[in-house]
This record gives sequence, structure tokens and C-alpha cells, in this order.
Amino acid sequence: MTDRLSHLTRRLVAFRDARDWSQFHSLKNLMLSLNLEASELLELAQWKSDAEVDASLADPAFKERLAEECADILNYLLLICERAGIDLAEAADAKISRNDAKYPVAKARGSAKKYTEL
Ligand SMILES: [Mg+2]
Repeated sequence: MTDRLSHLTRRLVAFRDARDWSQFHSLKNLMLSLNLEASELLELAQWKSDAEVDASLADPAFKERLAEECADILNYLLLICERAGIDLAEAADAKISRNDAKYPVAKARGSAKKYTEL
């Protein structure tokens, strides 16, 4: 795992353990929590057009909330990977490589089709 992700994971584990919250952080509960945070991210775009969401970036309060929800998602993702013994950086790197093979530039460039339809 990259140094930065390892550092964040160690901080999260220290935060969790100081509060004796590991007992609540089952893999299932962490997965649910990640999804709840992802829903909070979606809430920022609810009822807005693409252009309105893009324009919201000029609002510092919106950008701060966006950053907070992104951080919540990353933090739960790191806790899931810590619980499951997954090296997130390695897994993400491997996934990009698999997607690179599934979506060759010559076929996928400018297309929103799924790899099975290319
Ligand atoms: Mg949140």
C-alpha cells in the first residue's frame, strides 16, 4: 500500500481502537456505512442538473461538504480493506490493468458501451 494510504489506515485504526469501536466495525457494518456515505455524496447532486452540480464547485460550502463526503467514503473503504486484509492501492492498480485490457482504446475511445458490447 502507498505510504499515504498506510498512514491514513493507521490513523483510522488508532482512532477506532481508542474508542473501543472495533466491536461495531464488522465487515458488514463497514460495507453498509460506506454505502450510506456514498448516499450522502449523492445527496449533494439531488435535484440538480449536471451544469448546476459543476457550478456548485464555485461555492466554498458545497466544496467543503463534497470533500467531507469523499473523505468519509475513503475512510470507510480503508477500514474495509484493513478488516479484510486487502492492499487497496495494489487492488486498485490491478483493477485499472484489468479495465485497460477490457476496454482497448481502439474500441472504447469515445464510447459509453460496456466491454461486452464493444
Ligand atoms: Mg458523511
